[in-house]
Amino acid sequence: MASYDLVIIGTGPGGYVCAIRAAQLGMKVAVVERKSTLGGTCLNIGCMPSKALLYASELYEEAGHSFAKMGITVSAPKIDIPQMMTFKQQGIDGNVKGVDFLMKKNKVDVVMGTGKVLGAGRVEVKAADGKTQVLETKNIVIATGSDVTRLKGIEIDEKRIVSSTGALSLDKVPEKMIVVGAGVIGLELGSVWRRLGAEVTVVEFLDRILPGMDGEVAKSFQRILEKQGFAFKLSAKVTGVDSSGKRLKAQVEPAAGGAVETLEADVILVAVGRVPYTEGLGLKEAGVVLDERNRVKTDAHFATSVPGIYAIGDVVAGPMLAHKAEDEGVACAEILAGQAGHVNYDVIPGVVYTTPEVAAVGKTEEELKQAGVAYTVGKFPFTANGRAKVNQTTDGFVKILADAKTDRVLGVHIIGREAGEMIHECCVLMEFGGSAEDLARTCHAHPTRSEAVKEAALAVGKRAIHM
Ligand SMILES: Cc1cc2nc3c(=O)[nH]c(=O)nc-3n(C[C@H](O)[C@H](O)[C@H](O)COP(=O)(O)OP(=O)(O)OC[C@H]3O[C@@H](n4cnc5c(N)ncnc54)[C@H](O)[C@@H]3O)c2cc1C
Repeated sequence: MASYDLVIIGTGPGGYVCAIRAAQLGMKVAVVERKSTLGGTCLNIGCMPSKALLYASELYEEAGHSFAKMGITVSAPKIDIPQMMTFKQQGIDGNVKGVDFLMKKNKVDVVMGTGKVLGAGRVEVKAADGKTQVLETKNIVIATGSDVTRLKGIEIDEKRIVSSTGALSLDKVPEKMIVVGAGVIGLELGSVWRRLGAEVTVVEFLDRILPGMDGEVAKSFQRILEKQGFAFKLSAKVTGVDSSGKRLKAQVEPAAGGAVETLEADVILVAVGRVPYTEGLGLKEAGVVLDERNRVKTDAHFATSVPGIYAIGDVVAGPMLAHKAEDEGVACAEILAGQAGHVNYDVIPGVVYTTPEVAAVGKTEEELKQAGVAYTVGKFPFTANGRAKVNQTTDGFVKILADAKTDRVLGVHIIGREAGEMIHECCVLMEFGGSAEDLARTCHAHPTRSEAVKEAALAVGKRAIHM
């Protein structure tokens, strides 16, 4: 029987990163994976394939709409979906191979099969051919991630009624697409297919898009998406889908109840969130307690109710984001090695990878109001940023929220091209408890879009230069 210091179930960004850090710290580590490739949701059916299609579809749109005004004449671009999917798959394969390499480099044993916790110190792995083996270990980390949330009465077939997984692999551009849910995944994948030619209608139960993000940012982003051709039905719910005909017929009802409307579509994407994945893990039998939302319950040190069993990533509370899972993987391994591993949940950026991008870190205005914190707002639009103007990509703004008394930056919200890259200087600033003044006095290269961050910081003190 193989014996380890640490066995990790799941090789998504939580699991594989935890394995590498634990190996760096001298532990003998094995990872268990039930799918045929390592990397989890993120690498195989999440972050990475979606970004490949967002990139390809963005360039398609640029070639069709933006090249001519820059004096570049090309014939009308054509879409080759099989080739676009090959491009996507090559990207996935490259990243998955990278994880394979990292496991070998760090001498982490990879055990393919479905893991089941037999109790503290024992993990059973059932391979695809039905053979089982038991791994003995000092510690177990559950990093089994999440699965798509299903809607009652709507059967996902991954062909016409799809989850994000099916939406990443459509074989042709739908004429009409309904996206159920105006969260990050729905808007990103809706953007991909809208750019490629689909007519996209987003149906959202709440009265706003991007729930949880800053309200002003969400409103402004909705207007930008509408300009791009998105249609939104807010405060509405899809209650059923008739798939008997050539076209799908979705019944859409006001969230508060009322007259039902029928919307037709070729593809319906159900993107209403994700649920923790704990199926077949044997947690109940092992005595591992789940919380009210079926997430594995952990303390501040990732420990579950059973000594020696830990959990990280999407399967525990907190934002379902790859970088949050990674940071928890590192912190958990460090704690197991007796170090002071820690994740600062107040500074976890969130990005919507559309065009323009939306990026945020820290508190929203709504959160500050609710907490009764007095704050100052500094805003700077990209219409006043030289680099954005010269590139004619002026959609969006930077908004900085600072404590009214101390000037400490409490939240930053950016809509704009490259917002997902720009947010990180704000993350570093916030990790160091920095102020808007600190940001405003930091020299920023010219001409860059990041100068808008500096100007927004100046605007906190009502002294922006270019506005
Ligand atoms: C379409 C889409 C786009 C996304 N885009 C982004 C993005 O841009 N940025 C971002 O930060 N996040 C994004 N996410 C979210 C991100 O993918 C997750 O937050 C992240 O993958 C969570 O990592 P994890 O390690 O907790 O779990 P996962 O990545 O879900 O990995 C869990 C792994 O455990 C395995 N497993 C489960 N049960 C068992 C078992 N019993 N035995 C063995 N193995 C098991 C699974 O097969 C899987 O490989 C996206 C998600 C989706 C669906």
